[in-house]
Amino acid sequence: MKFTPYWLDTAPQGPDRSRTEIGGRVDVAIIGAGLTGLSAALHLARKGASVHVFEKDTIGFGASGRNGGMATTGLSIGFRQAVARYGFDTAKAYLMTYHDAVDTIEKLVAEEGIDCDFARTGKLVLASKPAHVDGLRRTHEIMSGRLGIETRLISKSELHTEIGSDRFHGGLSDTKSAGLHVGKFTKGLAEAAARLGVTLHEKAPVEKVERLGGTRHELVTARGTVEADQVLVATSGYTRRPLRWHQVRLAPVGSFIIVTEPLGKDVCDALLPNRRMSSNTLNLLNYFRITPDHRLLFGGRARFALPDQQSDAKSGRILHKAMTETFPQLTNTRVDYCWGGLVDMSMDRMVHAGEHNGLFYSLGYSGHGVQMATYMGKQMAEYMNGTPSANPWRDLPFRRIPGHFGPPWFLPFAGAYYKFKDLIK
Ligand SMILES: Cc1cc2nc3c(=O)[nH]c(=O)nc-3n(C[C@H](O)[C@H](O)[C@H](O)COP(=O)(O)OP(=O)(O)OC[C@H]3O[C@@H](n4cnc5c(N)ncnc54)[C@H](O)[C@@H]3O)c2cc1C
Repeated sequence: MKFTPYWLDTAPQGPDRSRTEIGGRVDVAIIGAGLTGLSAALHLARKGASVHVFEKDTIGFGASGRNGGMATTGLSIGFRQAVARYGFDTAKAYLMTYHDAVDTIEKLVAEEGIDCDFARTGKLVLASKPAHVDGLRRTHEIMSGRLGIETRLISKSELHTEIGSDRFHGGLSDTKSAGLHVGKFTKGLAEAAARLGVTLHEKAPVEKVERLGGTRHELVTARGTVEADQVLVATSGYTRRPLRWHQVRLAPVGSFIIVTEPLGKDVCDALLPNRRMSSNTLNLLNYFRITPDHRLLFGGRARFALPDQQSDAKSGRILHKAMTETFPQLTNTRVDYCWGGLVDMSMDRMVHAGEHNGLFYSLGYSGHGVQMATYMGKQMAEYMNGTPSANPWRDLPFRRIPGHFGPPWFLPFAGAYYKFKDLIK
């Protein structure tokens, strides 16, 4: 079994960018080479800016190379909770941003010719408990009624048309959500940005950020120092010192994934015939899909621990149990890949973007960032160019997580709380 992300292992390797020269003055410096940073770099370069991207590890090393490859349409908190918090109209505007975000990926893939298996196969939410069916019904009524979004409520007896599992009590599907090979997409975005003149620096952790005045900063890396008129923080769950103000506003929550051996088309047709991006309704949910080469990818917040090889292996065993409970026909199936990554959970599980002390940032995707990080890269290019309305999240206050001073000591407690909620509800 490999403890590297399947997506990065099966994507083409770009040139080595770990020995690039760092120095001088640039229009924009971006910290983090994930989807936020790379998309922002590409869109800023399209506007004629000189852009340098600094990545502490390698391109796509963070969540962007480690996720489920699901570009889905929903908010992290769900639409009904968003209505309760923000009112119908604002919640609708926030929700539609996710639809625009999936469109943004589709457009970028076409414009830049990125070969990444993008396909609008839709999503499928599966009721884990009989009581959860009612929530799906209410969501369906709002979606297909007041919002005019095409969704389908699926009864337990019809579920076999969507999934080869008897475990669920009903489902809700849409056709707008998409799947993609996120390793090929992230790497393809990096190469597209490079073609437009963006300089990408790998193995270049930003160790110090010094404000020179306004939005101008000096960034110190182990390989050199650069001066930038604007800086974008795009470090998601990997945010650490020197970005302390941002760090204490994000809980880095581990999410883990296993990928099976290739199963062949026929087996996959029996598991998920419509190739939907699927998840269940538990608080500690599982998500799963078929990869372009006919494997099952199965993920979840298996343990509230930070990823490392030992923790990933333990999480892999928990996920394997959950996978075979969902699909008993896979009991003897080999697992080829197992890895973990960090999700950047904000206090309110909403995206936060803007400027603080002269530093621009876009963070807090809370597990729904494949589409949103790509979209926010584009929007931040507009925002940094002087269009405040380009930032759809500008009215949301970015609150510090109480008691969060650096290392996330609170994660096991949060995990125990959500496990308890899944037992009782
Ligand atoms: C296991 C897992 C599954 C997920 N599944 C899905 C999914 O199916 N659908 C979905 O929509 N979302 C999913 N997500 C969330 C999604 O992947 C992220 O929201 C998104 O990729 C964030 O992109 P980003 O560019 O903001 O951050 P990242 O991709 O995390 O990039 C941040 C980068 O910043 C770098 N960095 C940090 N500090 C420094 C520094 N000081 N100097 C230089 N570089 C630095 C890091 O090395 C990292 O590469 C998942 C996340 C995980 C972890």
